[in-house]
Amino acid sequence: RARESGQDFLFYSAEMNRRSLARVMLDTELRYALERNEFLLHYQPQYHQQTGRIVGAEALVRWKHPRRGLVPPSEFIPFAEETGLILLIGEWIAQEVIRQVGEWNRQGLSLPRLSLNLSAKQFRPGLVERLQALCEQHGVRTEQLELEVTETLLMHGDAQTTDLIHALSEAGFALALDDFGSGYSNLAYLHRFPFDTLKIDRSFVSGLPGNNSNAALVRAILGIAESLGIEPIAEGVETAEEAHFLLQHGCPRYQGFLFSRPLPLDGFVSLLDAQP
Ligand code: C2E
Ligand code: CA
Ligand code: CA
Ligand code: CA
Repeated sequence: RARESGQDFLFYSAEMNRRSLARVMLDTELRYALERNEFLLHYQPQYHQQTGRIVGAEALVRWKHPRRGLVPPSEFIPFAEETGLILLIGEWIAQEVIRQVGEWNRQGLSLPRLSLNLSAKQFRPGLVERLQALCEQHGVRTEQLELEVTETLLMHGDAQTTDLIHALSEAGFALALDDFGSGYSNLAYLHRFPFDTLKIDRSFVSGLPGNNSNAALVRAILGIAESLGIEPIAEGVETAEEAHFLLQHGCPRYQGFLFSRPLPLDGFVSLLDAQP
């Protein structure tokens, strides 16, 4: 027994060393990636079923790794949030998103709103002023940007976060509650914070209307959104049946593979240009 657990210990410590080595390497690589400008944004349109128009888009970060190709955010954003590197990556994302909207403004491209994801770690003093300064620098109105935050940010309900959220709203930024229903949902959040948009998490949209519990939950979420006057949007819509159910129950806006995957800049601009 003793020998066995001794071996276990050796095994686990070797495994732990490997893991911390991998972490150090990833951290170094991500810092290089920032220097070498290896991050890029894809844009996923948000679609209005009744008008058939693109009503907005979400900017989603990718990492163009020299050897591994396009790395999805799930492979580096959670890590960057843990280490704090998200502050530097988030700064790059905000710069790039706002610079791009400014460019589209000058080109006369009409996109009502672009959404960007903010990590909870980015809610620090100076956030509002930094985003406002970038908007001024690039000729962007704050109303043209929507900031997506998740419920985990609201969970702790500390005064600093609450103040920052209100200040962002007062500065004119639109606010979206992302992944609604997936975390520690608490309806009080929706009352306390000035959200414009509620994004229904993909896990609830999947399998509508055949999935009975999802159908009931989505109906309930849409009822809440309506009574609070918050605009709902569904994410991860993949089938015409899901889209139809959402439209019938008061959610005409969606984002999902059914309409379009997240697109590289060129593809997204072509799609916008092709609109009637
Ligand atoms: P999210 O904010 O919930 O973003 C939506 C994710 O769902 C995107 O994954 C998108 O590609 C995917 N998606 C959209 N439509 C469909 C669909 O119909 N079916 C399926 N199966 N998936 C769909 P992506 O781009 O891999 O991003 C994953 C997560 O990484 C995001 O989830 C977000 O939490 C994080 N992330 C992405 N970009 C950023 C960023 O710029 N900043 C921060 N802080 N986080 C980001
Ligand atoms: Ca999002
Ligand atoms: Ca989401
Ligand atoms: Ca989600």
